[in-house]
Amino acid sequence: MKFNLSDPLAGLVPPNTKICDSHVHIWNADAFNELEKWGQLYGVKRFMGIAQPEVKKTLEQNGKAAEIIFAYYLPMQAFAEKKPETIIEAVDEAHSLNYSLTKTWFGPRQIDFFNTEKLVSISDPIFEPVFTRIEEYGLPLDIHVADPDIWYSTKYQDSERYLTKTQAINDFYTVLERHPSLKVISVHFGSLPEINNLLQLEDLFQRFPNFYVDTASTKWIIRELGKHPQKTRDFIIRYQDRILFATDLSVGWGDHPEDYIPTRYWAQRLFWETNVQKVELPFSDEDNPNPPTFINGLNLPQSVLERFYWQNSQDFFNLSQ
Ligand SMILES: [Zn+2]
Repeated sequence: MKFNLSDPLAGLVPPNTKICDSHVHIWNADAFNELEKWGQLYGVKRFMGIAQPEVKKTLEQNGKAAEIIFAYYLPMQAFAEKKPETIIEAVDEAHSLNYSLTKTWFGPRQIDFFNTEKLVSISDPIFEPVFTRIEEYGLPLDIHVADPDIWYSTKYQDSERYLTKTQAINDFYTVLERHPSLKVISVHFGSLPEINNLLQLEDLFQRFPNFYVDTASTKWIIRELGKHPQKTRDFIIRYQDRILFATDLSVGWGDHPEDYIPTRYWAQRLFWETNVQKVELPFSDEDNPNPPTFINGLNLPQSVLERFYWQNSQDFFNLSQ
């Protein structure tokens, strides 16, 4: 089986549930049309969209409010440069503009992007008032905590500069411990989809009842979770209430091939819903040291798909159907 734009639903049957994509980036309002169009084909009825205030406003004026749960991207540079006042102003704005959640990113590349002297730690006490403010508003936090294991052994060998993944995850534990009522979606399966990390993820689920993960980053998720389909399947069934379907598709910025959106939805749906084996991922995965990356389907039970595709996100964001 192979992805083909002339038959973009090959191998799939219509899902018995609506789907919410709980992690997309919408950089301009017109670009949302593409997501909406492909969403209709793949059964995606709602999106958690990270969008700037003017984009949000235009989308609302265009009548798209019911389809999008809006997230406010907190200023990364202010984190990198340790300017908590700037971030707090942004949190206040997110609250006053009726955003449903805040989004932040703590990848080690932060130090390269902003040319700062030292990589900041999320648990640096200087950020405490930020998380306290978010918690006070009852705004959930969507957060990128760390990168794929493989990047730490390739791109980030300089652990003085980029710190270690263990350190990034431990710093995040500290924040969760300090803010027990903060509701969190830790993206990319908590940055822990590698099979050896699932025990740690289990510990996070057990210790923090407000901790959730999404399945964004199609290639990272399918590459790692697909290495051990049975273990992954059992794990997802066990934590089926805490996992949200998501892609991390990004529209309105940069060039993407024509099949960018459908290949992600096709690959993920095939992975969660079917028992296909060794279907080649329909786009390149430059992180795989032994390419190609294969889709090894998990064939999740229908009741789990209903939670994972739709109900968990609607519960998380307190939405009625
Ligand atoms: Zn993202």
